[in-house]
Amino acid sequence: MALLARAPGGGFMERAAGTDSIVDSSPRMSGHAGEPADAAPGTQSNAVPAPLLAQWNRVRARLQMEIGDADYRSWLRQMWLAGLDGDEITVKLPNRFHRDLVRDRYGALLSALWQAENAAVRRVDIRVGAAVTDDAETPIVSPALLRARAAGKPDERSRAEERDASALDPRFTFDNFVVGKPNEFAYACARRVAERPASTGFNPLFLYGGVGLGKTHLMHAIAWELGGSSQAERPVSVAYMSAEKFMYRFIAAIRSQSTMEFKEQLRSVDVLMIDDLQFLIGKDNTQEEFFHTFNALVDAGRQIVVSADKSPSDLIKLEDRLRTRLGCGMVADLHATTFELRISILELKALRAGVAVPHKVMEFLAHKITGNVRELEGALNRLIAHANLFGRPVTLEAVPEVLQDLLKAHDRRVTIDEIQRKVAEHYNIRLTDMSSARRARAVARPRQVAMFLAKQLTTRSLPDIGRRFGNRDHTTVMHAINRVTELMATDAGFAEDVELLRRMLES
Ligand code: ADP
Ligand code: MG
Repeated sequence: MALLARAPGGGFMERAAGTDSIVDSSPRMSGHAGEPADAAPGTQSNAVPAPLLAQWNRVRARLQMEIGDADYRSWLRQMWLAGLDGDEITVKLPNRFHRDLVRDRYGALLSALWQAENAAVRRVDIRVGAAVTDDAETPIVSPALLRARAAGKPDERSRAEERDASALDPRFTFDNFVVGKPNEFAYACARRVAERPASTGFNPLFLYGGVGLGKTHLMHAIAWELGGSSQAERPVSVAYMSAEKFMYRFIAAIRSQSTMEFKEQLRSVDVLMIDDLQFLIGKDNTQEEFFHTFNALVDAGRQIVVSADKSPSDLIKLEDRLRTRLGCGMVADLHATTFELRISILELKALRAGVAVPHKVMEFLAHKITGNVRELEGALNRLIAHANLFGRPVTLEAVPEVLQDLLKAHDRRVTIDEIQRKVAEHYNIRLTDMSSARRARAVARPRQVAMFLAKQLTTRSLPDIGRRFGNRDHTTVMHAINRVTELMATDAGFAEDVELLRRMLES
């Protein structure tokens, strides 16, 4: 199977603690000689001159606007700029699959955007080269940076701080969060924690709700707020990371025998935020470590903020004592959005973008895209980018054309047959092995992936899925889902594979 050798994200606490003891030492790039040794998105190698880098960042931002967040994240986030040679720009992607897809789907757009940005660029060469780390979740946020940002002094930031900034999305502030019935309680709790961290009754703060309803947004908003308002002598230090990152770092620390440092660093922060805790599930020693860190911090009067897709009591794989502790502070639920809230969100986004969007368009979007706010936003961004590109206003007429794929995806149902076929094809096994009794890893793992995707992409129940995979029991399906979830959390290459399959099935 096509596993990518992707180096996991770096940067954890290296600055804040002044040590690199638990920084991943594996090479970030598997590039050819002469290629930059460190080229995370946004922190391009020093081989690329700063003005070019600035242009590249603008091109990328436009690209993201144009094609929407979801597709950008799937296909283009790992694209990096290798350099400008004469009139030719070279960008690279980690593997052939990505390269071909980007070339076919976005090549023309990328060229157009580059030419609009820099008239000297005539050609864009898209090549395979190196994997780039995902620095989207650098956890420790330095108080100095937060204050500099809050004071609107970005120029004072050093390069290292610039990198830290990528961890917190500058758009995820309280100001940019639209409050409505479904989220007003969670919002109020987040506000309260930002104003008075670690006050009784609000520690830990446990935020939960479905995908794309604003959990991460609220967590970042708390971090921004704490940084901005900390005029006190002792600055507030905030650590934010996903549960996956937490696990990964913990495992890396064990491997490099630096768990003590890892623990000390974690326990030295004022506010610890762990996003998507559901991914900590089923990992005994990491749960244990989290539990101890958690207790140490709460006992020391520090604030914990946790998010998950379910309430503490529904996170069944969580250890009892952890679940109990998580539930004993404030538990706030982000409910599914209402039509009114979706309209308000669209209104705010259009306002922020400074673009007039007809109400009919917003109504259409709010009717069609009802689940994930990220998708709703992505759709709006695409309409705006499209209109900008052609110098036209946003109209209802343009919607079907511009959002064709997205709207289709929302009407589409993936079948288990399709999933089995695609997965078998991808891993090069026989379709019959999806329901055969063979248990060799080479067939069992793809089968598990297919079960996992069946659960994710269809509305079938576990027993139903089991029946379609050679009359297996629903507990087998459950085991498969857990196994794949675990592997995805620890093996970036595997996770990427599954993600690619998912997107292929959905598109
Ligand atoms: P989650 O972490 O719950 O999956 P996010 O916090 O990442 O969701 O939110 C997904 C996207 O939707 C983000 O771009 C976020 O800014 C936006 N969003 C979600 N809820 C709101 C809201 N109430 N107001 C404004 N933007 C929102
Ligand atoms: Mg999130």
